[in-house]
Amino acid sequence: MRRVKSFSRVSLLWGETPIHPLPRFAEAIGLKSCWIKRDDLTGIAFGGNKLRKLEYLLGDAISRGCDLLITGGSPQSNHARLTAAVARKAGMDVWLCFSGRNPGEEQGNLLLDKLFGASIRMTGKYGSEALLAAMEELAREAEGEGRKPYVIPVGGSTPIGDYGYKRAWDEWRRQADKLSLPPIDYLVVPVGTGGTLAGLAAGKRLSPAPVGLVGFSVWQKASVARAETLRLERSLLSQLGVDGGEEGDYLIFDEYIGPKYGVPSREGMEAIRLLAWTEGILVDPVYTAKALAGVIGLARRGDWKDKRVLFWHTGGTPALFTHAKTLADGVERV
Ligand SMILES: *Cc1c(COP(=O)(O)O)cnc(C)c1O
Repeated sequence: MRRVKSFSRVSLLWGETPIHPLPRFAEAIGLKSCWIKRDDLTGIAFGGNKLRKLEYLLGDAISRGCDLLITGGSPQSNHARLTAAVARKAGMDVWLCFSGRNPGEEQGNLLLDKLFGASIRMTGKYGSEALLAAMEELAREAEGEGRKPYVIPVGGSTPIGDYGYKRAWDEWRRQADKLSLPPIDYLVVPVGTGGTLAGLAAGKRLSPAPVGLVGFSVWQKASVARAETLRLERSLLSQLGVDGGEEGDYLIFDEYIGPKYGVPSREGMEAIRLLAWTEGILVDPVYTAKALAGVIGLARRGDWKDKRVLFWHTGGTPALFTHAKTLADGVERV
């Protein structure tokens, strides 16, 4: 056995997140069976996948004696909201950097950031590089004030953060045994920065199981998302002392991005309603609805007729309230 490096972890989740079947949804779209892993129920401030990354990122920040978390993204970033929440829980301050000039409506995640008392700076620029530069500038300012800042890149996707999803892989495999789940053909996640999928793929590489990993990109075209996910998977594996990580470790589709990142798609809106009407569960318009639209699309095309799918709900539901008009417009009157 190779020695596997371990990272410091702060426990933020309440335990394993539930896995349960979606029989009415599966029947409605023509899938053999569909299961859901509820990472929308990770327990703090409306939950979501970023808490699994933050267990390790916060652990690292604390072990380095930091007293301030700095991160960024778009003004509706779920990652920023959860970073703000866990900073407060750990007794730290939080500074957030958002791309662009206009933060938009004070709803959803942005409203919650304000409730957590986060200091917010608009960068006036777009793109991840400008954002990272702005965060580093903030870190220098903080150091000038005698603080010890910890900078978390967009989406918390570093080997340390992504390790949370390596651990999540082990968690669902244990649950699958305990619950005697039938063999799952495909595990489906949305792909933003790719860190979540990269962590799961690293988990699968270390503890293999015959389950296909499928990502639906909500932002970049498939070739870019694939390269980026592979880079993240390899850098996590290399920190764990393991070689490898190949493009064949997962499939990534980009047909369900819709108009663009952050803008609801017609198929995504339909997915939100279908899951709500068949199962009483909410997905968000920016990430999970688009991945679910992908599941619906492949199932209806007949490609997945005999397949069993595990849909990994990564959270994001506060963003529903920033698209109230679009969502309400589709509701039938009685
Ligand atoms: C950030 C996020 C994702 C994407 O995770 P990555 O690790 O960036 O690919 C998916 N769903 C929700 C709700 C998110 O907030």
